[in-house]
Amino acid sequence: MPQKKCSFCGRSEKDVKLLITGLNGYICEDCAQQAYNIVMQTGALAQEQNGDGGPFKIKKVPKPKEIKKYLDEYIIGQDEAKRYLSVAVYNHYKRLQQPKDDDGVEIEKSNIIMVGSTGTGKTLLARTIAKLLEVPFTIVDATVFTEAGYVGEDVESILSRLLQVANYDVEAAERGIVFIDEIDKIARKSDNPSITRDVSGEGVQQGLLKLLEGTMVNVPPKGGRKHPDQDYIHVDTRNILFICGGAFDGIERKIAQRLNTHTVGYNSVQNVARIDKADLMKYVLPQDLKSFGLIPEIIGRLPVLTYLNPLDREALRKILVEPKNSIVKQYVKLFGMDGITLSFTDPALDYIVDKAVEYKLGARGLRSIVEAVMMDAMFDVPSRRIKSFEVTEEYVRQQLDKAHIQKANAAS
Ligand code: ADP
Repeated sequence: MPQKKCSFCGRSEKDVKLLITGLNGYICEDCAQQAYNIVMQTGALAQEQNGDGGPFKIKKVPKPKEIKKYLDEYIIGQDEAKRYLSVAVYNHYKRLQQPKDDDGVEIEKSNIIMVGSTGTGKTLLARTIAKLLEVPFTIVDATVFTEAGYVGEDVESILSRLLQVANYDVEAAERGIVFIDEIDKIARKSDNPSITRDVSGEGVQQGLLKLLEGTMVNVPPKGGRKHPDQDYIHVDTRNILFICGGAFDGIERKIAQRLNTHTVGYNSVQNVARIDKADLMKYVLPQDLKSFGLIPEIIGRLPVLTYLNPLDREALRKILVEPKNSIVKQYVKLFGMDGITLSFTDPALDYIVDKAVEYKLGARGLRSIVEAVMMDAMFDVPSRRIKSFEVTEEYVRQQLDKAHIQKANAAS
């Protein structure tokens, strides 16, 4: 039997690592790799993967339930917000795919606003959605914006960021999603329109309004500040989905006020009893955002309003262990890479949660507490010949006491 040879480079079977058999010939691993490179360079494969060749053509649109299921793997609770987001993202995809027929019905976008105290998962939700998405996505912080002409960034810089993510493919950026964090920080200081200039409040909201409404915006390339000679990139924001998030500290008071003012009269007495005073956030309505200092026009452009619950003990406990990349799982993996099985006893986890509740840092506190607890172990254990390491309640106490003493000493 003749020796098998690569039909492309002619090397025989013994000179190559792999020889793939075809109908009338063979190909070795090197030639296969080269062929792949050629295909990629000509763009033939890229075109096929993306349908029309655009980098962000959507292959398969995940259904709202699928999106929520994905979010469930990473985020504990917050069902309401997850449902709203799933639907909004799904509709966003559908709107992008709507055929241009003449029936006069054009699906408009529904930007979203999420209200919830700090550390309840707003950014995490946005980031997790981003992983699933096939459209350009960026997170910006509203605190950096000031009214055009003042020191700070103009709102247009949001679009520069989106353009960057989309590799300056304007068409792709125009279908993207932007998460604006800390939207509450650009609230005007009082419910009344300001007499004096409110550089970081109302002016910024007016600027933002333009983007939310959907207009042609001139974006200075590379995010630089405007300069008369610069060529602008024109971006149409009509199809960009905006998701806003904010803690709106103190909005509960506005909600409570509103609920009280509506409780005059006979019928409402029964309703009062049913109001869950511990969690007023779930009663949030657009008018509360207005009382907080968002201008009505902005509120009108953020028609989907949802909230995130404060995290209770039980939720914090779950956050430690359950999400796909939970803090505990991350440490177990770290130790596992040194061949050490790391475990936490239940009382140890409970104690960590107790401390997080005590420090009032929400889920944000969990990470820093675990970090403080594990510091010594991470330093020592890799050099010790042990196969396992168990974190007990006693160990947690000891480490946290030590960390505090050290901090106290450093401060004094
Ligand atoms: P926010 O944007 O609401 O202030 P983040 O999303 O930044 O809060 O949350 C801070 C950290 O806390 C996240 O990185 C995550 O590890 C954790 N976290 C917060 N909420 C949740 C949640 N519901 N499920 C899982 N982890 C959470």
